[in-house]
Order: sequence, then C-alpha cells, then structure tokens
Amino acid sequence: MTRAILLRGYDYGDTSRIFRFYTREHGLLSVIAKGVRGRSGKGAAVMSSFATGELTAYVKPQRDLHTMKDFQCTRLREGLGRDVLRFAGASAAAELVLVHAEAERQPGVFEALDTAMDALAEAPPGRLPGTVLASLWTITEAFGFAPQLDPCVRCDTPLGGDEVGRFDFAAGGVRCASCGHDSAGPRVGPVARRQLADLLAGELPDDLTHGRQHLALVSDFIAYHVASKPLKSLAFLGGLMPGGPEEVTDA
Ligand SMILES: [Zn+2]
Repeated sequence: MTRAILLRGYDYGDTSRIFRFYTREHGLLSVIAKGVRGRSGKGAAVMSSFATGELTAYVKPQRDLHTMKDFQCTRLREGLGRDVLRFAGASAAAELVLVHAEAERQPGVFEALDTAMDALAEAPPGRLPGTVLASLWTITEAFGFAPQLDPCVRCDTPLGGDEVGRFDFAAGGVRCASCGHDSAGPRVGPVARRQLADLLAGELPDDLTHGRQHLALVSDFIAYHVASKPLKSLAFLGGLMPGGPEEVTDA
C-alpha cells in the first residue's frame, strides 16, 4: 500500500479502466482496475482525477502495468472542478509529472505534487495565478532543475540590487546585465528575481503581477530542462492567466 495521486484514467476494454498514479513509494505507476465499469463495479465513483488516497496494487518488477486491488480516497479535492484555471493548473502539474517522472521513488516530487494539488483546490481566487506558478516551480525544483537566479550563470558575478538581467534558458538561469545584452531571453529585474525565488520556495509574493509572463518563463524553462517539449496543458493555461504583453521585468 502506498499514498498515491491519481493523474489520469481511461477506459480499457468493456469493463476495465487503466489509471496512472504518482505514488510515494514507486513513483509513476500504471494500474489496471478490472471490472470497475460493470454493473457490479465498486469504487469507480471516487476515482476522480487529482485525488490523493491509499493505493493497494500487486506490483510486479519488470512490468509496466500492474493490477489495482483498492484505492481509498483520502482527499477528493472537489474544489478543483470549481473553475477552469484551478483545473488547468492541476492538469499542468499532472502533465509535468507524467512527462518526466519514472517508476522510481522520489518522495520530494510526491510531496511537491500533493501540496500543489491542495493549494490549487483551496486558494482564494485572487491568489490562484500565483498558486499555479508556485505549483509548477516547486515540482520543477523537486525534480532537481531549479534555475540559478544569482550570481550570473555566465560570469559568476553577483547581480546588483537594481540590476536587470536576462534569462538564459540554455544555461538554466539569469545572466547579469553585461553578459545579458546579447541574450534573447526575457528581462528579469530585481523584483522579478525575488518573485521567482519566492515561487520556487512555494511562497506567494504579495506583489505578483505579470502572471502571463511568469507562466511563459516557467513554461519555457520546463520545455528546455524537464520535458524536452512544450506541455500542451501549459499552452492552454496561458490564455487563462492575467497579464499584458510585456516581458517579466521591473518596468
Ligand atoms: Zn555575467
């Protein structure tokens, strides 16, 4: 038995369903639940995406699909269905884990995802854009890919208090102003760097603006370092985030 978060489920055959879970003990795990769609099927009602519970499965080494015995939901997170931004944020967090995680134990990733799903389900509406960003950054960091915000990724010089650097996706962080003038990455000033540091720590900056630009930054970082391609759910999420056409900067 292991704590597990349901990421995705789909029908299989006439009566079964296949579920993809992120589990605390085994990482990403695909299980088949036989007979759950028949008239005598039990438990299917609580098999709702992004729920956390206790999963019991017959896990065999060297196999890709395991047999589910039971899933006892402990957190259903019905709040995620209340609005589209909450649901899109949860979908993006799930997709991030699905594209990068493997069948190996990474408790830090489990805790980051579980915390993110709770926060997305419960955040007040005004805090939701920041919660979406913090969820994506904390999961990214749990995978081991935090961006370097200071010192400069190229010359190692600490950035000054009012210095506007530029993000360098290939190098995985921020360049100082002198190294940044030939970079095409978005500008990141001191406020944006502090906001990024807060979001990486799972904290919401009180002055968070430019939600769409922040989302573009985390999306591009994920595409470059974690997923090796843009995530579909992040493109959808971009249209829901507040923010104008500016770059992430301290105008
Ligand atoms: Zn530099």
